[in-house]
Amino acid sequence: MARVQADNQTDVLIVGAGMTGLTAGRALAARGARVILLDRRSSLGGRLGTRIVGPGRADHGAQFLTAESPPFRRMVREWQREGILEEWCTGWSEGSVIPGRTQALVRWSAPGGMSAFGEQLARRLDARTGCRVTRIATTDDGLWEIRDAHDVTYRARVLVLTPPVPESLELLDLADIRLPDADARALRRVTYTRCVVGVFWYDGDVDIPEPGLVEGRDEDIAFIADNRRKGVSPEALLITVQAGAELSEKLFETARAAALDRLEQALAPYRSRDAVLRERQIKRWRYAIPRMHHPERALRFVPGRRPPLVLAGDGFGGSRVEGAVLSGLHAAELAIDALSP
Ligand SMILES: Cc1cc2nc3c(=O)[nH]c(=O)nc-3n(C[C@H](O)[C@H](O)[C@H](O)COP(=O)(O)OP(=O)(O)OC[C@H]3O[C@@H](n4cnc5c(N)ncnc54)[C@H](O)[C@@H]3O)c2cc1C
Repeated sequence: MARVQADNQTDVLIVGAGMTGLTAGRALAARGARVILLDRRSSLGGRLGTRIVGPGRADHGAQFLTAESPPFRRMVREWQREGILEEWCTGWSEGSVIPGRTQALVRWSAPGGMSAFGEQLARRLDARTGCRVTRIATTDDGLWEIRDAHDVTYRARVLVLTPPVPESLELLDLADIRLPDADARALRRVTYTRCVVGVFWYDGDVDIPEPGLVEGRDEDIAFIADNRRKGVSPEALLITVQAGAELSEKLFETARAAALDRLEQALAPYRSRDAVLRERQIKRWRYAIPRMHHPERALRFVPGRRPPLVLAGDGFGGSRVEGAVLSGLHAAELAIDALSP
């Protein structure tokens, strides 16, 4: 059996430090559980992603979050009081408002970008980046044994998987961990849209209408966001262009330059003649937004004679950041129950 350093042994190990994992980690730590989070990326927040382009920053994942349920609204107000979220706007100008109830919802953004928000949520947690979990197994004495790509081994009493569902299932398959047939079938139905996003750094004027965001004006483009107006990138004019679901499918395998050319076309109505493109970058999200959810907020299994396993994420119960947070809260409850003697 591999030797495991004391600081790699814990009550609960959470794979993924996106909103689901961070929320579960905070809730578990608040209840006195020892928690380690592992994420393969170099930053925290998962699909709340921000990248550095030239001297500025741009959100290239979720552009904002909205809060509908009372528990999540309370959390968002608290984060506003802490200064890690701020109200961006409640609706759009220029005919870009999508009619319906979402129109009245506040769009919350994060000063410094969405990843800064993830970093803030993790500030009292043992959350480790650059740790891609490659193998999970169990020990004879009833613990989970988790290994990352650097061959570091961790042990935990409860394992919580929060990657997009197909990636969690892949980890379970590799470990030959079988879930009950009905659950496995239900989980395989959870699928996600793909998404292609471009970030464009300009010198000069690109005038995205108030409040620096255009949403749903045409089917091909889901959002155009001005990161300077949003308060994410005071140093440089960085514009994020997010393709809609159909165009993302078309561009997902398209060569980088051609995909960026197509996304950049969306800026033509807003760009002044003398605006100069300094740099452009692309981000392709293989799992962006769930098309189909599992009806539960999170699931707990005790596969075979193995220790407890919890599956959670925005594929459970409801999508977007709010769905991920509610799933994380439920996952923490399930993990706490599993830790009780
Ligand atoms: C382009 C885009 C735009 C969006 N826009 C919005 C929006 O405007 N508003 C909104 O509310 N939501 C939006 N969303 C959705 C929102 O970002 C997600 O619903 C939410 O962030 C999901 O959180 P999560 O923790 O469930 O998953 P994730 O954020 O995906 O977190 C899972 C984490 O698991 C990690 N991971 C996976 N496999 C492993 C492994 N083997 N080892 C270690 N770590 C692993 C990943 O690196 C990731 O960090 C958008 C998403 C995208 C992609």
